[in-house]
Amino acid sequence: MRPARALIDLQALRHNYRLAREVSGARALAVVKADAYGHGAVRCAKALEAEADGFAVACIEEALELRDAGIRAPILLLEGFFEASELELIERHDFWCVVHSAWQLEALERARPAKPLTIWLKMDSGMHRVGFFPQDYAAALARLQALPHVGKVVLMSHFSRADELDCRRTEEQVAVFEAVRAGLSNEVSLRNSPGILGWPSVPSDWVRPGIMLYGATPFEQAHPLADQLRPVMTLESKVISVRELPAGEPVGYGARYVAERPVRVGVVAMGYADGYPRHAPDGTPVFVDGKPSRIIGRVSMDMLTVDLTDLPGAGLGSRVELWGAQVPASQLASLCGAIPYQLFCNLKRVPRVYSGD
Ligand SMILES: *Cc1c(COP(=O)(O)O)cnc(C)c1O
Repeated sequence: MRPARALIDLQALRHNYRLAREVSGARALAVVKADAYGHGAVRCAKALEAEADGFAVACIEEALELRDAGIRAPILLLEGFFEASELELIERHDFWCVVHSAWQLEALERARPAKPLTIWLKMDSGMHRVGFFPQDYAAALARLQALPHVGKVVLMSHFSRADELDCRRTEEQVAVFEAVRAGLSNEVSLRNSPGILGWPSVPSDWVRPGIMLYGATPFEQAHPLADQLRPVMTLESKVISVRELPAGEPVGYGARYVAERPVRVGVVAMGYADGYPRHAPDGTPVFVDGKPSRIIGRVSMDMLTVDLTDLPGAGLGSRVELWGAQVPASQLASLCGAIPYQLFCNLKRVPRVYSGD
């Protein structure tokens, strides 16, 4: 069997969820969209279900997968419905539903669900992607609350730059939101992971942690709370071939790396078809049998090459960590012009092996 695999530590996932709740003092919807950022939505939701206040996903297809797997907790559709015909399923399965656009509000006004729906009304406080503009928000809220089939309405917005700790934009967005919701008694929800970790004073009844659940920091720089996260995924494989090359010989496609000295090259069963970033430069850290090494040569589809010259004890069958506790996904991502979200979501072909149930 090919030795490439992703180890998923569900205990670390629970630790990170608890941290999100603890530092925010709020209820937390665990964001498990995109197959739990590549970690497996059903397994992750089951691991959290006993303690989670609820879950959030991008669309009804993802929500149905969780319900079908027996998850009974609340599930929020972060973009609401994409077609009015989904309202029937939303009602039947008790999904909570974001309303971010006028067309959704109009569809809700035409609908006749028998049970009251829980709606999260989104404000565009400055991200400028979806949501009602601040000047239109109170009217949208009034129209929603006038509907007999709308129950609780949570007021929500989303930050565009909360990962930039020295940027004023988050405070500006909070001020815009607060000005509109003054005098309203509805619950509110603003913070994603960087909001939870980096902006403690933002008012929250609900938070929406995503990337932090999986143990990756959303920040470029070190941060005391982010340091308490535990990585959930370890991407690992093994050395499947070893060769020694004299100085001057190239390794791999395009001869990007040329040996400056005699090198011992380890070939690892991991490539960009597994989701490892093809743009990893020479020198990108990996750990071989727990010791630091580096990528040499271009990452190919199914294999990549590492420098074993200074690791005489390493060889065929040595275990290689591509990311995890020793190579933080956020560090690898930043070397590759990516973000940890992307690394996790790109994972494919590699079997996931779970522990900590
Ligand atoms: C994806 C998403 C989140 C989670 O964001 P993280 O940065 O991963 O914590 C929160 N809120 C909304 C609306 C989202 O779409």
